Amino acid sequence: MRGRLDRRQAARGDSVRLSLRLHLGLGAAAVAGAAVLALVAAGCAAPVRFPPALVAENNTPAGHVSAYDTNGDKKADYFTLQDSSGRIVRIAYDQTMQRGEPDSFVNLDEILPTEARHIVFLLDGIGCDMVEEFRKEGRLRLFHPPIPVISTYPAMTDLALADVFRSVPVIGFESVHFDHQANRMVGGDSDYLSLKNEDWARHLDYRAGMLTDPLAYLYPNAIFNQELDDFQKLFDQRDREVLVAYLVSTAGLGTRQGREGQRKALDGLDRLCEDLVRRTRGLVKITMFSDHGHTLTPCKLVNFRGFLAEKGWRVADRLEQPRDVVPVEYGIITYASFATRDRAGLAADLINHPGVDLVTYCEGDRVVVEKPDAKAFVERRGGTYRYVAEKGDPLALLPIVEKAKAASGGGAPRFDAEGFASDAAWFKLTYAHAYPDPLDRLWRAFHNVAEHVPDVVADLKEGYGAGMASRAAMLSSIASTHGDLKRKSSTAVLISTVDPHTAGLEKRDVVRSRDLPPILETLTGRPWPPPAGGNGKR
Ligand SMILES: [Zn+2]
Repeated sequence: MRGRLDRRQAARGDSVRLSLRLHLGLGAAAVAGAAVLALVAAGCAAPVRFPPALVAENNTPAGHVSAYDTNGDKKADYFTLQDSSGRIVRIAYDQTMQRGEPDSFVNLDEILPTEARHIVFLLDGIGCDMVEEFRKEGRLRLFHPPIPVISTYPAMTDLALADVFRSVPVIGFESVHFDHQANRMVGGDSDYLSLKNEDWARHLDYRAGMLTDPLAYLYPNAIFNQELDDFQKLFDQRDREVLVAYLVSTAGLGTRQGREGQRKALDGLDRLCEDLVRRTRGLVKITMFSDHGHTLTPCKLVNFRGFLAEKGWRVADRLEQPRDVVPVEYGIITYASFATRDRAGLAADLINHPGVDLVTYCEGDRVVVEKPDAKAFVERRGGTYRYVAEKGDPLALLPIVEKAKAASGGGAPRFDAEGFASDAAWFKLTYAHAYPDPLDRLWRAFHNVAEHVPDVVADLKEGYGAGMASRAAMLSSIASTHGDLKRKSSTAVLISTVDPHTAGLEKRDVVRSRDLPPILETLTGRPWPPPAGGNGKR
């Protein structure tokens, strides 16, 4: 119950006893005689936005009540009520009498999305499991339960967000790529800073200046606080109904501090959200989503240049001979990509590196997946996919397919005589797999998501990373990163104070990044993506 402890630690002043005649849910009878828990304050110097002090909490028949002192007079003046599911559904204020008892109430669900401002926080790299874990500790209680969102492959920011914002497809997986026509590497920091690969960013109302990005990885705590402050200033301008904010420090916190860093990010955001709801009398709805998950495991940088040179490859910056290879290196991520004229030959060597889990490349119009002693093909026909395991089962899909074929009944996925099944059927079968939704994601990686695609991609095992060595040297430690095909890296999240049922989502639904536009349109009650430009009245 870390959340509660935090609140207790945040409490200040003498022990306060409150007569909580809280008609927060069911009227006075419901809470009559309820015991009041008085909390002894403990000093805490953390920069807390909300709550200033939890002065009491209590389980009542109407639900769990928390009482806060927001003006420091040691009397409760703000109250929240959680329903039986643990969500905050009602807030109250001691607005008039100043006796530490609520006299003004708001039922949050009675405020329609179209009647409230809507904030959309875009979290970089927060996975669904992390949000689940945090909620189980009593946090993010303004929100409905999280929905898992399967990212693109690779699980990268620009690829996933191009899907979410329906924006112009990206140039490459990252801000550098190999241009086969020019036969050289293209892009780099100047492209990154000019948002060349981030068309989606045009739809944001808040994004820190691009020069902040490297700082967000070097000083993530400070930049996170700065971003929250800057966002609040924008919110206080009161000049737009929907505010879409991207917080780059969520990436910095996760990358440098792993699990603890992501918890800091969620803690700060949860407090900010609670404060905004309090300050606006509930006239704000909030949705948060992420682009991909994170490994939450420190990684060791693989020296593919040295490894491939030892195997007889000429590691170069252009392709001239069949055994030439150009590593595409930029951020520190959990896949490695290469340009070469001998895809199969390069894959055959890469699969023997101890840090490589599997290797993928295009051969004709199918995607090849290789592991040591295992090879399969991903084939697409119309809207259907087929997994052809030539040797072994590199994506570990055969047991799933066998089980599905054996199943009968209306809901069972249908495979045709040649083994093809619809994209939707594969998604249903594999979204929670060790490699979530692998067929469509691998297919799209080489066909549909970027103008320039690498020749060969090596997906790395947990604990390994790849990228620009100088960048890795700049960051003394990498506690977590992303990009690979596995579950943690691939599973992003959607969470909202608006009921996801209104957007047609059922409790156990899982969606893809590219499913989010119509869902966000319903949750925000306004067009999605929001108009580009993000400046003011709309
Ligand atoms: Zn990201």
